[in-house]
Amino acid sequence: MTYDPNNIFAKILRGEIPCDKLYEDDHVLAFADLYPKAPVHILVVPKGAYVSMDDFTANAGPEEIAALFRALGKIARDKGLDKTGYRVISNCGLNGGQEVPHLHLHLLGGKRLGRMVEAD
Ligand code: 5GP
Repeated sequence: MTYDPNNIFAKILRGEIPCDKLYEDDHVLAFADLYPKAPVHILVVPKGAYVSMDDFTANAGPEEIAALFRALGKIARDKGLDKTGYRVISNCGLNGGQEVPHLHLHLLGGKRLGRMVEAD
């Protein structure tokens, strides 16, 4: 799948659409999910143009990969989620239910989250 530079997160990264920014460094932007599924629901996004986890793990450099996961952990600790626990999800492609075609990690917490995968 080729990268669509008009996807909603690309527009957020370019500052064309506002977001509730929670963290930023050279490689990563994190912001609140507009439709939160938990009391804490943060999207952690690489700045590079990667469609999905598949694209990122195949093509991103080690610095970008390290930055994404370092940022995720820092944001979780800054929110106190390390004390209570949290969940990280990345939906990939059709079966993963991915809606926005720019890689993002969902950081979810703030309550007991229940089953990991809902039954059909
Ligand atoms: P996906 O289904 O691709 O894994 O997740 C996409 C996420 O993006 C959803 O949780 C959805 O609520 C969130 N989202 C969609 N549009 C926007 C937006 O314009 N701003 C923000 N902050 N989140 C969005």
